[in-house]
Amino acid sequence: ETEADKISYVFKVVVIGDSAVGKTQLLSRFAKNDFCLDSKSTIGVEFQTRTVNINSKVIKAQIWDTAGQERYRAVTSAYYRGALGAMLVYDVTKRQSFDHVARWVEELRAHADTSIVIMLVGNKADLVDLRSVPTEDAVEFAENQGLYFFETSALTGENVEQAFFKLLEEIHRVV
Ligand code: GDP
Ligand code: MG
Repeated sequence: ETEADKISYVFKVVVIGDSAVGKTQLLSRFAKNDFCLDSKSTIGVEFQTRTVNINSKVIKAQIWDTAGQERYRAVTSAYYRGALGAMLVYDVTKRQSFDHVARWVEELRAHADTSIVIMLVGNKADLVDLRSVPTEDAVEFAENQGLYFFETSALTGENVEQAFFKLLEEIHRVV
């Protein structure tokens, strides 16, 4: 039995949010330790994979990165096609990136499947002196919109595993 035979599910997850909030670093942090790591670059989008165990099932997370398209608000519906989860990232030191979260949620509601599981992530939590988005603001927004929420640091690794695993667990519950 090969590694591929054991995989029960492949979950496509998209990472979205403003430019420079740390999307690529979060993805690298989550995927880089895995020996199954592979990455692919096609037409300006790319993904990395990590195989994890969720409730004794082997799940391959295929996590897509926007590769700079967020700067031009040109993320296409192809990017969202088949996505079961979304990691919506803002930067806790950049108020504007949090103010834009509502717009990203609208994007998801317009282009993604209605059952998509959304994890809101306030990244760069290590930059305590530069923080401009209070945790409570994000908690309130997440509750109102029905999103899961974590504050993370791709730099220190704080909560990165927790955020991805929670998202994958919730996807597993609904598939
Ligand atoms: P993207 O445009 O959203 O993919 O953002 P990147 O992952 O390229 O990160 C943008 C910049 O923020 C880079 O200089 C990263 O080193 C930095 N960065 C990303 N995550 C963190 C973090 O958690 N803490 C700190 N201090 N810097 C970070
Ligand atoms: Mg990037």
